[in-house]
Amino acid sequence: MGIELTIRIIMYTLIVLSYAISLWLSILNYKNRNAPIPEEVKDIYDEEKYKTWHKYNMANFKFETIVKTLNTILFILLLAIGFFPFIEKLSVDISNQYELQAVIFIGFYFVIQFIIDIFTSYYKTFVIEEKFGFNKATKKTFVKDKIKNLLLTIILGGGLIYGLASLYTKLSSMFFLYAFLALVIILLLVNILYVKIFISMFNKLTPLEDSSLKSKIEDFAKSVGYEIKKISVMDASKRSSKLNAFFSGFGKFKQIVLYDTLIEKCSEEEIVAVLAHEIGHNKHKHIWSGFLQMSIEIAIYLAVLELFLKIKEFSTAFNFQDINFGFALIMFTVLLTPISLIIGIFTSYISRKHEYQADNFAAVNYNADSMESALKVLARENFSNLTPHPLYVKMYYSHPPTADRIKAIRKVKEN
Ligand SMILES: [Zn+2]
Repeated sequence: MGIELTIRIIMYTLIVLSYAISLWLSILNYKNRNAPIPEEVKDIYDEEKYKTWHKYNMANFKFETIVKTLNTILFILLLAIGFFPFIEKLSVDISNQYELQAVIFIGFYFVIQFIIDIFTSYYKTFVIEEKFGFNKATKKTFVKDKIKNLLLTIILGGGLIYGLASLYTKLSSMFFLYAFLALVIILLLVNILYVKIFISMFNKLTPLEDSSLKSKIEDFAKSVGYEIKKISVMDASKRSSKLNAFFSGFGKFKQIVLYDTLIEKCSEEEIVAVLAHEIGHNKHKHIWSGFLQMSIEIAIYLAVLELFLKIKEFSTAFNFQDINFGFALIMFTVLLTPISLIIGIFTSYISRKHEYQADNFAAVNYNADSMESALKVLARENFSNLTPHPLYVKMYYSHPPTADRIKAIRKVKEN
């Protein structure tokens, strides 16, 4: 058997296998919907609401399964009919510069992805989320978001591919090292500028007004010796009724962002508890371990990418004359799926540990009862799954299931 045939078989097998594993996990999780509700979360939904949750869960499960299946079939078809060598020809016809060819090549593939995304996200927003009352976005907001996303992807994605391709042609032997350094610097910049640029492009952020809430927050921060740089309120309610809060940046750039929906649905004590949780993340320096984690991930991904850029047969097996940078990038995502599934076991484990630590910080330093009731409001308003399958949690959950978090918080209270 020739090496090219072997590679084709391996790649097709990987595509099908990744699909099968992810489908199996989501079926497992879906089947677990009827498991007994843990005692800690019994009062989150009343009977009526839980029936609705089941419908919501089913609608999402069906939708995600169909999308996943169609995407897999489409990708196999594109590979089989020689779509990629075809767009390579087009990109060579359009430009004779190697870096631009790579950008154009990926650009053609991106157009297909973009069209699929418009249909799927439209359906998700205006059919599923709408039906269950979560959607608050108008069609106008939706279109505006898509245009901004498109521009951002063209500028940043295009720039990134151009940059990587030019690193590859100019210093092929040192590609790995320089690409790694460049990506880590970009990661750092994105972390710093996340709220300032990316969030601000889509949302309006206003400083939290002087109020009894603000003074409660400030009193708490003082009591744990934390200097609040900035608390912003984000107008999340223009898209969805779901709630959240997050922590972003480091040093001078750090700030806490609260969704306006959170302020609307939670009591002041619950909001302070959520804030205490976020301050807990900061006190434990989770942002840095997250940063380190992502740097390791980048190194692993680049090592895989190098494989495709070194072994010519990965390209020739799919009817290319030579190594194609853009195709290597696309094929590398095929290998990436099973690899990131494995990496995900570790990263989501660490992330869940961090969540426990942040909850613990809030429970010990602020108030365990408020933290518990805040988690319940979050679960209720976000229609959380009360009985996710343990294996599914291990593979994908960055946050522990609500019942487990409450169990841990109650232990703090006992001590
Ligand atoms: Zn957290």
